[in-house]
Amino acid sequence: MRTTNFGGNIELNPRSFYMPETEQEVLEILDRHQGQRIRCIGRLHSWSKAIEANDVLLDLRQLNHVRTADQNHQPSVDVGAGCQIKRLLSELERQKNWTLPSLGLITEQSVAGAVSTATHGSGRNSLCHYVMSVRVARYDTKTGRATITEITEGAELRAARCSLGCLGVILSVRMQCRSAYCVEESFHEYAQLSEVVAAEEQFPLQQFFLIPWRWSYMAQHRRESSMDRSATAGLYRWYRFLTIDVAMHLLILLLVRLIRVKSLIRLIFRRVIPTFVVRDWSVVDQSSPQLVMEHELFRHIELELFVTRERLEPAMQFVEQVLCVAGGTVQEVDNSFRNKLSQVGLEEDLSAVAGIYCHHFPICIRKVLPDDALISMSSPGNASADELADSPWYAITFTCYARGKDRDAFETVGRFLSRSMASLFVARPHWGKLCYLQPIELRKLYPQFAAFRQVCKEYDPNGNFQNDWTRQLLEEA
Ligand SMILES: Cc1cc2nc3c(=O)[nH]c(=O)nc-3n(C[C@H](O)[C@H](O)[C@H](O)COP(=O)(O)OP(=O)(O)OC[C@H]3O[C@@H](n4cnc5c(N)ncnc54)[C@H](O)[C@@H]3O)c2cc1C
Repeated sequence: MRTTNFGGNIELNPRSFYMPETEQEVLEILDRHQGQRIRCIGRLHSWSKAIEANDVLLDLRQLNHVRTADQNHQPSVDVGAGCQIKRLLSELERQKNWTLPSLGLITEQSVAGAVSTATHGSGRNSLCHYVMSVRVARYDTKTGRATITEITEGAELRAARCSLGCLGVILSVRMQCRSAYCVEESFHEYAQLSEVVAAEEQFPLQQFFLIPWRWSYMAQHRRESSMDRSATAGLYRWYRFLTIDVAMHLLILLLVRLIRVKSLIRLIFRRVIPTFVVRDWSVVDQSSPQLVMEHELFRHIELELFVTRERLEPAMQFVEQVLCVAGGTVQEVDNSFRNKLSQVGLEEDLSAVAGIYCHHFPICIRKVLPDDALISMSSPGNASADELADSPWYAITFTCYARGKDRDAFETVGRFLSRSMASLFVARPHWGKLCYLQPIELRKLYPQFAAFRQVCKEYDPNGNFQNDWTRQLLEEA
């Protein structure tokens, strides 16, 4: 079995591949491959090395049961690891008129995959925060035989909530649910970041986009609504699909893959792309169609960096300046940033990105509340004076549709942004997206990393469930 991930940037070529149908079959596979390295995949929608697997690979798509429960009026669901989020949503709706408390931009992922890299949307916690228990297949440390452990509390649960596949084979997950609800959405453009962020009070579920080369912010205002579905909701769904998910993307593909003229890309972003968005058309619809977009229609790669609320504004100024340097429209970043870059030895790296890449996709910014997890990207930072443990995080996403040399140039800029923003703004890269930091740099960003490593050692003392990347990540510094 040879395959590649969604982004086409990682190839998997395992020696043995299985698609088990039962938990018992998983245990038998583990016993058969004692001493070998075992990894799992969901739907391969990650871009990071978390999915690499060269020895034994398991795909649990056939473990996809959906069993709802309503104990003590707390709606929850027991769901098979390989169930796709979209199937889970339709089953929750069909069985109980429930939904999930948090949703990302797409619903193609498997439950275990989405949980394992802390997939998130906007305005709420990551999906993994709502995980109540996890069933994991691993090796019994005394007998060496495969066994199943139910993780229900403490540091183990907080590790399992975003575990990068390091604890063993996730068989199923119990997750909080909620009653179905409606979301009101409208678009509005702002000149200043502070204005968009202030609008969060009224629209707590909003996400917003920095439009490159126009440098304004397009907010997708969203909030829960008790109103009925709007009469125009169906029309709105079609408008968003045809203009934003399809037409805007096709125009960008044409510009980036065929025409490839930087000045034209900049002009189109300044003048044409913003016209795709109908401002202030307020529509109420069910939560899933409002919160989810068809972002998987066209193959691309993504880098996503998380900063806390207090660092968002300088971080976005820095992003804008770096993209202008990379795009060749300015020569330098502000003195204050330049001094900081030279203090951390990255001034020359900035010169290396000058003029090499013209960014060509709106930069999505989403607020994520702090998770009760050890190493999810929005798990609490240092609870020191300048960084409150309960500060929300903002995920800044850089998307690239280019191919060949232009994709390489994006990766060079992405590498620079990752390293410089980790140094200047303590920015954490998404575990499931392009991840350019070295293990030692990554560990530093997570004050609870040692606790995560400890749980991994207890669950997998011989490193059977690690690939090269997670093995290096878990090394003692
Ligand atoms: C178009 C697109 C849009 C996206 N939008 C968002 C978004 O809005 N928000 C966001 O946060 N992310 C987003 N992502 C990233 C995506 O949600 C994550 O990368 C997610 O992990 C992918 O899930 P998957 O099922 O494909 O898992 P995979 O990518 O296959 O695996 C991810 C990790 O989970 C582990 N894993 C999977 N199954 C198991 C199991 N049964 N047991 C143990 N470990 C397991 C794997 O080993 C790996 O470490 C997007 C990705 C794409 C391609």
